[in-house]
Amino acid sequence: MIGKSYSQIQCSLILLTLLAISCKKPIAQAPDSLPQNESACPFEDEIKETHTDSIIENNGDETQNNCKILSPSNEIHLNSNLEYQNFSEEVELKLQLESVIEKTLKIINSKQFKQAVLNHQYKDEKVFVQNQDLSNEEIYFSLLDGLEILDPNRSPDHEIDLKIKKYYKRTSTIGYTYPSSLVVNINLYHYRKMSEAKMAQNLIHEWTHKLGYKHDRKRTSRRKYSIPYGVGYIIRDLYQFHFLNQKQNNLNTVTNSQHEASCTVIHDE
Ligand SMILES: [Zn+2]
Repeated sequence: MIGKSYSQIQCSLILLTLLAISCKKPIAQAPDSLPQNESACPFEDEIKETHTDSIIENNGDETQNNCKILSPSNEIHLNSNLEYQNFSEEVELKLQLESVIEKTLKIINSKQFKQAVLNHQYKDEKVFVQNQDLSNEEIYFSLLDGLEILDPNRSPDHEIDLKIKKYYKRTSTIGYTYPSSLVVNINLYHYRKMSEAKMAQNLIHEWTHKLGYKHDRKRTSRRKYSIPYGVGYIIRDLYQFHFLNQKQNNLNTVTNSQHEASCTVIHDE
């Protein structure tokens, strides 16, 4: 009996050892600098191409490696030429806006942005609403051209030319603009508590009006697929994903009705 128990114990020990080996956890990797913010997450020039391709193919699935890389596109890159009016008492906000614009340009100049604009859909077609008979690709390149309709030179300068002016009013309007001016008025009542992604969305939305793109004045079902809204949502989603460490939304699924009411274009025709 003793012998049998002994061999049983031996067997159990062997089994336990085998189990211990087979169930051994993988060696924990040293907590290298996984990105928590944009400064920790390099842009593509600091990382291998294959790495970024896997991110794109997986629609930005962050489980791949926790690093959400923007890959610069091969197109001419857009720059900015911004003027901040009446911001002398809003130094912090001005700095924040400059940072938002810098990140937004990285988004616009990325492969991810190009892919999202080219794939924008309305009713199963790769189009924008009120697209002025332009294809998604033509719209994409018009953004890179940066040719505002008020630009006296009428030649692409590949710059976002905007004048940003602040005001404060307790209304639902986040910002407004006039077609006859490059000034975009932003409401501090909202901007002081808005996420940077929404600031980027709002500024680019307004800027696309400067390029001549329009949307329905009323909240129609198709309005969110117009160029100002559609591109704005793409910017917001990529910003959230690449800079705010939030899970990427489906770029073509627009659910944020709250923001929909945010833009007011004062049509002066
Ligand atoms: Zn608008």
